[in-house]
Amino acid sequence: MIPFNKPPLTGNEVQYITEALKGNKISGDGPFGKRCQQWFEENLPTQKALLTPSCTAALELAAILIDVQSGDEIIMPSYTFVSTANAFVLRGAKIVFVDIRPDTMNIDETKIEAAITDRTKAIVPVHYAGVSCEMDAIMDIAGRYSLYVIEDAAQGVMSSYKERPLGTIGHLGAFSFHETKNYTSGGEGGLLIINDARFTERAEVIREKGTNRSQFFRGQVDKYTWVDIGSSYLPSEMQAAYLWAQLEKANEINDARLRTWKSYYDSFRKLIQEGFIELPIIPDYCIHNAHMFYIKVKNLQVRTELLEFLKNKNILGAFHYIPLHSTPVGKDWGRFSEDEVYTTSESERLLRLPIFFGIKDEEVSLVVKEVSNFFKEPHA
Ligand SMILES: *Cc1c(COP(=O)(O)O)cnc(C)c1O
Repeated sequence: MIPFNKPPLTGNEVQYITEALKGNKISGDGPFGKRCQQWFEENLPTQKALLTPSCTAALELAAILIDVQSGDEIIMPSYTFVSTANAFVLRGAKIVFVDIRPDTMNIDETKIEAAITDRTKAIVPVHYAGVSCEMDAIMDIAGRYSLYVIEDAAQGVMSSYKERPLGTIGHLGAFSFHETKNYTSGGEGGLLIINDARFTERAEVIREKGTNRSQFFRGQVDKYTWVDIGSSYLPSEMQAAYLWAQLEKANEINDARLRTWKSYYDSFRKLIQEGFIELPIIPDYCIHNAHMFYIKVKNLQVRTELLEFLKNKNILGAFHYIPLHSTPVGKDWGRFSEDEVYTTSESERLLRLPIFFGIKDEEVSLVVKEVSNFFKEPHA
């Protein structure tokens, strides 16, 4: 059986978790937590990086930080994970969905301006498959209309756009360390990236249940109290210890994933020439992180058949995102701006193949072989 995903494991996780357990602080912001945050602050670099229990939590924190109010509008693609929208809907915002570009599956930056109204508060670009959105255009629009940009970079750790790491270009950015992502903090986890210093102090307060506890620990105030709204957005030291083992091997994991990605890409040349599949397009100024390897087939029917065919060969593929505007909650809380041309049709023909840290060359070859066999059969 070739699974679709295996959580990354580098070997030092258990040792670091044991180390953390021996310390007398296993709640948030312990030594491993601080080390991880510092790693991101130095390596991205950014103003401030705050570990969170998930990317979902980081997006929620971002929505509180930019003061989203009931009736505000937030622009994002419909082709994304529910958390991108939920974070803002929880604050009473309406979602305005913009179509995607068929080449990268990212929000079509040329259609954003038409979606702006006087209620618009923010644009949330989602860097699908770790390939960047058109950030120059997006930041330009945001600047002209005084909007916030919150990058959903859940899939974009180690990716960049014109040499700028994803997550560091907007006012705020969010990473995910869920087990399905390139790096994990033990199953669940995330990071809020603060690129605009105006948000730093308040982010710490919101993350600490609305208290100024962080300032108290730094000796900046002599007691801590309830100073703002907030929630519990700290992951435990166990999660940070797990993540540290991954960050130490960040390049190794990234290189291995890129090798797998390239191996798929090169092996599928023939099927492209024969017109059976299309492959992802990476703009030449984008460096991606091989978060995903997807192919596009002719239509939904072919995809369903191919997924079933692979499953019968013990290979697990996956599809992605039922567009949010077509869901029950998406209909209540969102509207689609202008015509929906590519979101549904392109998502229906996208199929993701197994890719994870530690996948063997033989496994990749077998997947390629079986996908090729599928197209040789008469039913395709
Ligand atoms: C995975 C993912 C999330 C959610 O991440 P969690 O850490 O599981 O909360 C949000 N947005 C996108 C685009 C994702 O891929």
